[in-house]
Amino acid sequence: MSDRIADVHGTATPHGRGTVWPARVDLRLEPGIAEADVDRWVQSACLLCSNGCGCDIAVKDGRMVGIRGRATDVVNHGRLGPKGLYGSTDWASSPDRLTRPLVREGDRLVESDWDTAMGRVVARSKQLLAEKGPLSHGFYTSGQLFLEEYYTQAVIGKAGIGTPHMDGNTRLCTATAAAALKESFGADGQPGSYTDIEHCDAIFLYGHNMPETQTVLWARILDRTRGDDPPRIVCVDPRRTAVAREAERTGGVHLAPRVGTNLALMNGLTRELFVHGWVDEEWTAGHTVGIDDLEAVVEPYTPEHVADICGVAAADVRRAARIFGESTAVLSTVLQGFYQSHQATASAVAVHNLHLLRGQIGRPGSGVLQMNGQPTAQNNRECGADGDLPGFRNWDNIQHVEQLARAWDVDPMTIPHWAPPTHAMQIFRYAETGSIGLLWISATNPVVSMPQAARIRDIVRGDQCFVVVQDLFLTETAELADVVLPAAGWGEKTGCFTNATRTVHLSEKAVDPPGEARSDLDIFLAYADAMGFTNLDGDPLVPWRTPEEAFDAWCSVTAGRPVDYTGLSYARLRGPTGIPWPVNEQHPDGLGSLYADGVFPTDTDYCETYGHDLLTGGAVTAVEHRAIAPAGRAFLKGAPYTPAHEEPSEEYPLLYTTGRTVYQFHTRTKTGRSRSLDRAAPDAWVELSVPDAERLGISEGDRVRVESPRGAIEVRARVGQVMEGAVFAPFHYGHWDPSGSAPDAGHRLANELTMTVWDPVSKQPYFKTAVCRVTRLGDGDGPAPAPTTTASAPARAGVPGTAGGGPTSSEVLPQTPHYPLDPSQSGADDTRAGRS
Ligand code: SF4
Repeated sequence: MSDRIADVHGTATPHGRGTVWPARVDLRLEPGIAEADVDRWVQSACLLCSNGCGCDIAVKDGRMVGIRGRATDVVNHGRLGPKGLYGSTDWASSPDRLTRPLVREGDRLVESDWDTAMGRVVARSKQLLAEKGPLSHGFYTSGQLFLEEYYTQAVIGKAGIGTPHMDGNTRLCTATAAAALKESFGADGQPGSYTDIEHCDAIFLYGHNMPETQTVLWARILDRTRGDDPPRIVCVDPRRTAVAREAERTGGVHLAPRVGTNLALMNGLTRELFVHGWVDEEWTAGHTVGIDDLEAVVEPYTPEHVADICGVAAADVRRAARIFGESTAVLSTVLQGFYQSHQATASAVAVHNLHLLRGQIGRPGSGVLQMNGQPTAQNNRECGADGDLPGFRNWDNIQHVEQLARAWDVDPMTIPHWAPPTHAMQIFRYAETGSIGLLWISATNPVVSMPQAARIRDIVRGDQCFVVVQDLFLTETAELADVVLPAAGWGEKTGCFTNATRTVHLSEKAVDPPGEARSDLDIFLAYADAMGFTNLDGDPLVPWRTPEEAFDAWCSVTAGRPVDYTGLSYARLRGPTGIPWPVNEQHPDGLGSLYADGVFPTDTDYCETYGHDLLTGGAVTAVEHRAIAPAGRAFLKGAPYTPAHEEPSEEYPLLYTTGRTVYQFHTRTKTGRSRSLDRAAPDAWVELSVPDAERLGISEGDRVRVESPRGAIEVRARVGQVMEGAVFAPFHYGHWDPSGSAPDAGHRLANELTMTVWDPVSKQPYFKTAVCRVTRLGDGDGPAPAPTTTASAPARAGVPGTAGGGPTSSEVLPQTPHYPLDPSQSGADDTRAGRS
């Protein structure tokens, strides 16, 4: 019986290079329930991070009472992490679930019924369409809906209303991953496979605190670094995370660049490849364009120049580059330390450049994982709920628009394609001015998660815009809305979702939602029906009624595109494992890694974008793209480093950066309602380095005030592992307090301090480059409420360890029975079979 709060990654199962990751089945049931008590197990995948671990939900007496990993699933081989184990089901029976629609009467939300609530939404929608047209509507959705729901919303928004104002909170989270993949390879889609971990001899983690954000994936890496012939780890992170410690242990490097200087470091690493002759010239000549321009861009970034800008040792830059240049198979992973930081897309593209220069892509162990944060972010991007056109189509290519118009039987001019889709930050600006008069927010909590929180609060509660929120609970955002629609959650509805490595899972309905709550799909269908959206033949624009019908419609619209689902069906997905797209006649069992043949979707008529200038965001035109004639070759692109928008000053001498902790997910809507997870990280804190704390006279647990030019928080201080000059705050905490015992609940929202500024290409806001000052307010009542098991560990001993998860069980299986057992079925798991 293991406490997986204290033991985050669970029992190790070390193994050697090129061998199968052993299966280990993790299980947790509610206290007092034994396996024999479970009525039935229902197939699903975990919805609490982008790893997408295959699992089964335990059901007893019509309630979800536990979860078990699936040994046969290619993603996790049976494992689950603390969030999956303790956070998957407790929220569902929480007494504060929304069970009836709410409508605003004056300054109060009052319980209502579906006819009244949806009637208000439809009346306002029709009025705005009649008076102001489609640009009066905005949709801001999530990274946690199902594929069928995103696709339905995309059809409604693009072909029913015709608005370009659609985006999701994926803009805050994975927009840079998508943008970087498009810039280098011509289309979104993860090149790498998790099985690259089994084959690589070096792993570079760029701004990716994987031990906390994707715990099962980190367990997979630990099982390699603790086995025979381990890979070396290189960590790029301003905090001394567990990744940094593993880098030191494996003979790798920890590079801790000053906040906001990632691109200078990446340019330095790239230059080293050129200088030392580590470029695969034959491969790059046949499979890339732009190498001369890239070499010119990075030429000034000597290791000494990089050291001046980034505050890292020149020798460490050289060592890291040598590891990359001399390894035969490098795996790179990237996350928010790059995506939410200054020059985000250029920095993420630079990771691709390193792989392309070495010809290390698509081969076993040579992969790139531009990770997602949220579990269904990939579907949001695929289906077009983030504003893109469904199926990775190019809004600037009229033939792509016409393909959709034919599929939906609408006039192509209905589909907004005269300009780029509106990104989230601009959507909220339009809502602020009232030019968007109806903003529909689904399954996300922007009042807590968006930058410059005071401004977002004012936008949502103001009279200039009618705000609809559909969610599981009365979140900080929902309580300011005009209409609140109660939604069903994971396990209460059926649908598919796709993880960060393109692996598609089916999640079946296990129990009924509470009260009058409805699935997001049913809510969107009810709106479409009430609005009377029709196609050119006068038939309903959205003809499907069930998730499976919506899925089939989606599969057919992906035909011929990189994101090809045409070989998938619910029946296929009811097998032993998730399946990575593309799934079609050529790849009937899916494809573990993309680009093994060195051919990329960059043809001008096929690509998802013509690309951008990485420094300014200026768009490349179709004519310019055609003149380059990439024709299946990848782009090598670079940009010079520029200083961040805010630099430390006398008034604000420190750099402020936000992030996550392993025990909470996003704004804690689910994880905050798990007693185990909430106890492990119950309240906000800030982390200071030892030198900064000493200079400011701050000790562990002291109350401090952290201020930026935009706002302030007052929380307790952890004197911890962050680099000198930086202050770290977890972003999860709004004023909602599940136990009513968090003393800092009223003034702890990390985004009070962040600023409204975004990357010129991906439009992802920067959460990691603000300035701040810290002042001591007084003694605390003990240590900071920060976990000790994570990168937030205290610098000095004496703080009680984080524990208290309650029992779980874990069984290491003697032989890995994971799917597919036949090596000829090489697509879904290429550990045994080699690449397709
Ligand atoms: S690693 Fe992610 S998907 Fe897997 S169990 Fe943990 S939270 Fe869920």
